[in-house]
Amino acid sequence: MNYISTRTPESEKYSASYVIKTGLAHDGGLFVPESIPSLSESDIKKLAEMDYISRAQYILSLFLTDYSEPELLEAAKAAYSAEKFGGPAAPIAKVGGDYFLELWHGPTSAFKDMALQIMPRLLSLSLGKTGETKDAYILVATSGDTGKAALEGYCDVDRVRIQVFYPVNGVSNIQKKQMASQKGNNVNVVAIKGNFDDAQSGVKAIFADESAKKQLEENGLFFSSANSINWGRLAPQIVYYVSAYCDLLKEGELSCGELLDVTVPTGNFGNILAAYIAKRMGLPLGKLVCASNKNDILTDFINDGVYDKRREFFTTVSPSMDILISSNLERLLWFAVGAEKTRECMEKLNKDGVYSLDDEAMARIREDFAGYSCSEEETKQTIKNLFAECGYLCDTHTAVAAFAANKYKKESKNKMLVVSTASPYKFAPAVLSALGEEVPADDFDALDKLFEVTKCAIPKNLASLREAEVRFTKTIEPKDMRNSL
Ligand SMILES: *Cc1c(COP(=O)(O)O)cnc(C)c1O
Repeated sequence: MNYISTRTPESEKYSASYVIKTGLAHDGGLFVPESIPSLSESDIKKLAEMDYISRAQYILSLFLTDYSEPELLEAAKAAYSAEKFGGPAAPIAKVGGDYFLELWHGPTSAFKDMALQIMPRLLSLSLGKTGETKDAYILVATSGDTGKAALEGYCDVDRVRIQVFYPVNGVSNIQKKQMASQKGNNVNVVAIKGNFDDAQSGVKAIFADESAKKQLEENGLFFSSANSINWGRLAPQIVYYVSAYCDLLKEGELSCGELLDVTVPTGNFGNILAAYIAKRMGLPLGKLVCASNKNDILTDFINDGVYDKRREFFTTVSPSMDILISSNLERLLWFAVGAEKTRECMEKLNKDGVYSLDDEAMARIREDFAGYSCSEEETKQTIKNLFAECGYLCDTHTAVAAFAANKYKKESKNKMLVVSTASPYKFAPAVLSALGEEVPADDFDALDKLFEVTKCAIPKNLASLREAEVRFTKTIEPKDMRNSL
């Protein structure tokens, strides 16, 4: 299996390990598999008898053909152990008549763990496979969740170092403590006096700084990123859709071949794109419902065929979906209209802030996708209703999906899988407020209070956080980021 760029027709072909090491194609495009492996009904039946780790090995082996089966098995075992996830990696809760796929049982209680627990191991292996003599130095600017998930994922992984920068006043106290208490010999965490943009610009400037690059090379290192457009983050996300279908089949909730609709709370379009690829492989998925918060650029795109980022940006209670440019949408464009048109659209987006697709292309996209958005008030109301009516506590991002799923269900007879992307405790103040409770000023008190009110279990990593030992205390000016390496 080889990979090609979304922006060049007749693109050169690259191996999976090269693509994982490199991240972005040389023409600025994203890497996509040149063909989609197929999954037959009998494959699905066989996978239904396996555990998550073996399912991951099987699905990844179809895409990452230059990794050996033992390598993939070992990586999956290390990533998705019951020890790390407290049980199966992606369990399903039955809520009302729907299924909620809980992707937040990993070490940081957010779905980014599903990819970031295994991707660093794939990167580490890719260095050997591509003959790379230097080790990777990962730089991350984070507004919260990605930083911690990346730190956990890269912690003590061979031939990789990671440094995370976060805005000192731009993350919650819980997020701060999560990062500052990170264990591992290859990690470093630094706070920046500034906002997220300062941290991100600083990282970009370091990536572009030839002297920094040279300094690293002299120390046997090269810069790399943990970006969500890396195929190494996308491929592991295909696994949990297949796994969810297999679980429902095994439990008799679905019959063989029965279509299952899926709703995904969407930001960068990575998670829902993985569902689309699973569907193209032959997994019997029905509609893929793209759920957005008040930042509803994707809803407008799916409904009107116009992607227009010239609009107000809102800060919401589901911050991981506050986004105006959904990078992974480029991969869907490639499937829908091919490389030449994709490049045109991306150039237009860059130059004018807007692009549009013709009716024919949009009709193809709408065969697979529907888009709904959810206001702040609707998000809170959904959390409250789900808890009152079903006894199910969900976080703000999952609530956006649950709301959209309910809207779409009127159009379909299929069963519905709602993707749940974070533990409610990760966003305890907003969840408390949605339940109509007073919100304590201290985040840790909010955790305890949410437990008192709901009696839902607190994830271990968050319960022990208040007492965790702080290892990283450095706060620097943005201009000193380069010297902190
Ligand atoms: C990142 C994130 C999302 C958005 O996922 P995309 O793959 O970027 O669409 C949704 N919910 C949570 C909790 C996240 O952390």
